[in-house]
Amino acid sequence: MKELDWKNIGFGYVKTNCNIRCEFHNGQWGEPYLTSDEFLPLHIAATSLHYGQEVFEGAKVFRGVDGKARLFRIEENARRMKASADYLLMAAPSEELFIDMCEKVIRANADFLPPYGTGASLYVRPLLIGTTAEVGVKTARDYMFLIFVTPVGPYFKNGFAPIDVVLEKLHDRAAPRGTGQAKVGGNYAASIQAGAFAHERGFSNELYLDAAEQKYIDEFGAANFFAIRDGAYITPLSRSVLGSITNKSLRTLAEDLGLRVEDRKIEYEKEIATFDEVGACGTAAVISPVGRLYDPNKDKWYEYDAPGKYSTMMFHALQDIQYGRAEDKHGWTRIIEGI
Ligand SMILES: *Cc1c(COP(=O)(O)O)cnc(C)c1O
Repeated sequence: MKELDWKNIGFGYVKTNCNIRCEFHNGQWGEPYLTSDEFLPLHIAATSLHYGQEVFEGAKVFRGVDGKARLFRIEENARRMKASADYLLMAAPSEELFIDMCEKVIRANADFLPPYGTGASLYVRPLLIGTTAEVGVKTARDYMFLIFVTPVGPYFKNGFAPIDVVLEKLHDRAAPRGTGQAKVGGNYAASIQAGAFAHERGFSNELYLDAAEQKYIDEFGAANFFAIRDGAYITPLSRSVLGSITNKSLRTLAEDLGLRVEDRKIEYEKEIATFDEVGACGTAAVISPVGRLYDPNKDKWYEYDAPGKYSTMMFHALQDIQYGRAEDKHGWTRIIEGI
């Protein structure tokens, strides 16, 4: 194993042994290959560079208490990438190819999988790009699917601590009939100003309302929204929200804890002051408990119990499965044998 300062590596790119790639030409995928090259030979007119024909994924591998390496719900990432690619009229790897390449690249970089107990994990980043040279706006005929891994530190250095978030008032992340439900780089381009401005002012994240009416809660910059109130786990139903795998898992865990799950429109003005707990959820942090939400339209702060009782229980329940401390009764983890 590499000797890295696992607790302090943060969330940046760390060079590993290799990445894995597979190319699509003449209507079919070729053989995946490992390479230590961190650069791509890419045509200057590739569709991904000019017209955003690019979709990506994010997953994590955890070294468990029993020493085993566990990949969390990777088939969900494979399906979501296929859905995102379909939206952009791109060829996508099959679920089988996707998972097989994930396993291969993780095995080849096993010495970068952080040890148990450090809170660090191995982040897996699958990326699919159009590579055909085009000048007009069209879908590519050639694609590159690649996966790199990089060790990432614990999200919470100071424990499971509350965050401050801000209601976004100047920007929309995704249009009601746009690409919000696809994991495309373009959505991040749309939110980069809002995110930078929020960070500048000391907020960890920004909350978006629906772009059409500014009436319903959509999601945070790169994390889904959920709230707890009166025995219910409440999360927005919206076409412009990215279907978070963490959120999907939390819904199940909430039910396990006896909460009722409400997947519905959430009217901001009517409900924002009524929640007991509010959380941002995603692969990076599992749950970031929201302590305070600042509303710049009203110059008003909303406060929540953070970390609240249910957020804390769900956070531990999910991490216990990821680290092999609890029985994986929903079949969410895939053990990478032999590393
Ligand atoms: C990736 C992503 C999330 C989190 O999804 P997970 O599958 O839980 O990691 C939430 N919102 C957006 C916009 C995302 O791109």
